Amino acid sequence: MEKILVLVHTVEGGAVPRAALETLAAARSLGGDVVVGVFGESAGSSIGSLAVEGEAFAPARYATDAAACGALITASGAAVVLAPHTSRMGRALPGAAARAGGVVDTHITGLAAERGTLTASRWFYRQRIEGTISRAARPWVLLIEPGSFEAAEAAPAAAVTKLDVKAVSKTELVGFESPEGGEQTIRPDAETLFVAGAGWTKKQKDGQTHTPEAGELILGFVRAAKSSLGSSKSLVDMGSEGQSVLPFLTHLHQIGQTGSTPRHKKGLATCCHGEEPHVVGWRFVRERRAVNLDANCGWARGKADVLYVADAFEVVRELNKLIGS
Ligand SMILES: Cc1cc2nc3c(=O)[nH]c(=O)nc-3n(C[C@H](O)[C@H](O)[C@H](O)COP(=O)(O)OP(=O)(O)OC[C@H]3O[C@@H](n4cnc5c(N)ncnc54)[C@H](O)[C@@H]3O)c2cc1C
Repeated sequence: MEKILVLVHTVEGGAVPRAALETLAAARSLGGDVVVGVFGESAGSSIGSLAVEGEAFAPARYATDAAACGALITASGAAVVLAPHTSRMGRALPGAAARAGGVVDTHITGLAAERGTLTASRWFYRQRIEGTISRAARPWVLLIEPGSFEAAEAAPAAAVTKLDVKAVSKTELVGFESPEGGEQTIRPDAETLFVAGAGWTKKQKDGQTHTPEAGELILGFVRAAKSSLGSSKSLVDMGSEGQSVLPFLTHLHQIGQTGSTPRHKKGLATCCHGEEPHVVGWRFVRERRAVNLDANCGWARGKADVLYVADAFEVVRELNKLIGS
């Protein structure tokens, strides 16, 4: 197997994201010589034996990130570069690969090395066709989709070579604003994906809708469990039809054929029917549970591992009490 560089960045506090440890596991599964290169504010005390560190490399910024990645790729002399497909790496690495005279492939979900030939697999056409690719061009940069490998264990490197990289950028970071607990979009790092369906805004057994309470219950759960928030298409579409809606949901939350296909370990679908175009977005969620009043809903037909035939208002109210929200 050719020499592999695992390229990662640090996050606040000097840790590396879980996706970085998954990428390390992917590299180790191939065998051969694996070098870890890290960039970020205190990258020198992280898991890499090659590091680009300094305040200038703390924020996600194309110019400084691409310069750090380029220097680490060149210094490692690696033919294959694996990096986690975080939004930060997704922006910086195509440019760094081009500068190094290499190529880049994104959304990689599997790797194999047979008789020294590396192949990578990814999904095409909205996750319906899986393709396997190999390339002659080097360095070959591969961005690994979070959730595709089990995270590896890694200790700080015994000896670190720090590279001197000039941080030149016209972009200055003036502040950071973050939505609370990942409410505004799918958060891949969360353990659990909580999905809300249109049922939350429909008339309930007393003949009335309870949309404000639905909103409180959903946000209460998402904040307390630090879960990622998803939605069915119907629920986010209803806003444009002038119906009673949950104001914090947008098309960025939509899971399914026309939405996203996340890879959380666990998923809990509430008040959604389990229609095929929605459930196709759940194909990589490993443990799927659903709460629906209808024992004949789509989830009951093999689409969920566990279906609770129950009122989601009651279930989530009780859940929130148990987890203390
Ligand atoms: C080409 C195409 C692409 C599509 N792509 C997507 C996509 O990407 N994503 C997507 O989501 N949809 C997609 N759809 C739409 C999809 O087919 C469904 O219409 C949609 O997912 C249904 O949404 P829902 O389950 O939230 O709502 P509904 O079908 O209205 O279901 C609401 C459910 O809530 C339950 N319920 C009500 N009250 C309670 C309660 N108190 N407790 C528990 N359960 C309760 C009801 O029993 C019902 O099953 C697509 C459709 C097409 C044709």
